[in-house]
Amino acid sequence: MTLSRRQFLTGAGAGAATAACLGSTPAQAISREPKQMPEGALGMLYDSTLCIGCQACVSACRAANDVDVGHVPAPLADWNAARTWAVAEDLDGVTLNVIKVYRDGDASVKDRETDGFAFMKRNCLHCVDASCVSVCPVSAMIKDPLTGIVTHDANACLGCRYCSYGCPFGVPQFDLNNAFGQINKCQMCAHLQAQGGMPACCDVCPTGASLFGPVALLQAEAELRLAAEPGSLHRCSRHSA
Ligand code: SF4
Ligand code: SF4
Ligand code: SF4
Repeated sequence: MTLSRRQFLTGAGAGAATAACLGSTPAQAISREPKQMPEGALGMLYDSTLCIGCQACVSACRAANDVDVGHVPAPLADWNAARTWAVAEDLDGVTLNVIKVYRDGDASVKDRETDGFAFMKRNCLHCVDASCVSVCPVSAMIKDPLTGIVTHDANACLGCRYCSYGCPFGVPQFDLNNAFGQINKCQMCAHLQAQGGMPACCDVCPTGASLFGPVALLQAEAELRLAAEPGSLHRCSRHSA
């Protein structure tokens, strides 16, 4: 039996339609319930309206996490081209916390979208349902069931970098400049908390833009600030929420 080109194509189309039909059988998708935040979760509140961009939190983070303060990352575009500032443009293999700057037009007014500027702090968000934890094949990313803080176990880590790709915020990064490099990210200064301290960025912040404490209290503080005139509420940084 011979098939004309038309018959072949018609048959092939029918076959594809059948396959598509079979493939469209109602999916028996299995999904788990979204994870919930632990009752006593700890967290950090960042209030951009109170941030003055002083970078004290960036320096304190480096000091607290033994990062060489002389590390000046390669300049990108015209950012810090003269390497005047020992600050990174964004998170990298050793930078766990950065203050980024939004600029528009003549950048003359703080916190204004047009012709204004604003600051933004970037570090790990210690997500309720952390994808870095989900993708790690050896459970080297660990979410504390009581505090919700996500830490990284360098001894268990394979260095596969799945977490770098799994994190929607690009937070965990590998220190490629170090022969014995590893994945790094903010661990909310778990080592300082173990000694009764708080994350260095919140401890040093002079304006109360960065606060540390139980998430329930931070949410109440955030509600208070949202109801007030932006930037009008000043909180002493030495007190966590
Ligand atoms: S590394 Fe990314 S996914 Fe993991 S807790 Fe931090 S922000 Fe969330
Ligand atoms: S790099 Fe390490 S922490 Fe990240 S997913 Fe791989 S094993 Fe886990
Ligand atoms: S220390 Fe506080 S005010 Fe200074 S840049 Fe960091 S968050 Fe902003």
